[in-house]
Amino acid sequence: MLKHLIHLLYPNLCVSCNKSLVQTEKYLCLGCQLQLPETNDHLHKENGVEKTLWGRIPFERAFSFLFFNQQGITQKLLHELKYRGNEDLAVFLGQLYGSRLQKTIESHGIDAIVAIPLHSSKMKKRGYNQSLAFANGISEILKIENLSDSVYRNRATDTQTKKNRIERWTNVDQIFSVKNPNQFENKHVLLVDDVITTGATIESCASVIVKNCNCKISIASIAFAA
Ligand SMILES: [Zn+2]
Repeated sequence: MLKHLIHLLYPNLCVSCNKSLVQTEKYLCLGCQLQLPETNDHLHKENGVEKTLWGRIPFERAFSFLFFNQQGITQKLLHELKYRGNEDLAVFLGQLYGSRLQKTIESHGIDAIVAIPLHSSKMKKRGYNQSLAFANGISEILKIENLSDSVYRNRATDTQTKKNRIERWTNVDQIFSVKNPNQFENKHVLLVDDVITTGATIESCASVIVKNCNCKISIASIAFAA
């Protein structure tokens, strides 16, 4: 009864269309959930993400949950994650994606997950790492080991626009380090990022992992902006 009253006084709103949510809905109304621009990449080899990363790092599979389009639902969701600190929404999206990935994860023997770490200065500013929250949602549903604590970020540097290709590569190559390489021994690790655009961040983090650890890598992200 009390819960019902509170719900009436403070209705939860859909983060996409602002409509009041019914009690069974979380963050997104059913209508918006059905309209999510899902890529279904995990069902298709040679998808856009895999083509973006081919020849740059060794990986088994790569897939993104949603297509990114300007003014669309994905952009609203990412805005909510980034500027309104909605960590629970990131976990929820991870849970949603985790349920989609079940068969793919099992058939490829993926048994661990790692979120791309944020630099501590950015963590302070944003309050949380949205890639980690998304990865936590996935691992919760799929019951796979979370090794996110084993990879860390040395520097915050992202500004690479004025550097040439080689300088840029060296620059990103030194961003990440692996703390306990033996934890990755013989594992198949799902490396998780928020948005994949050029794939430079994924490339630098994955290359550090495969260089230092005896493991296989697959890649997942919340969104793919081609
Ligand atoms: Zn809605």
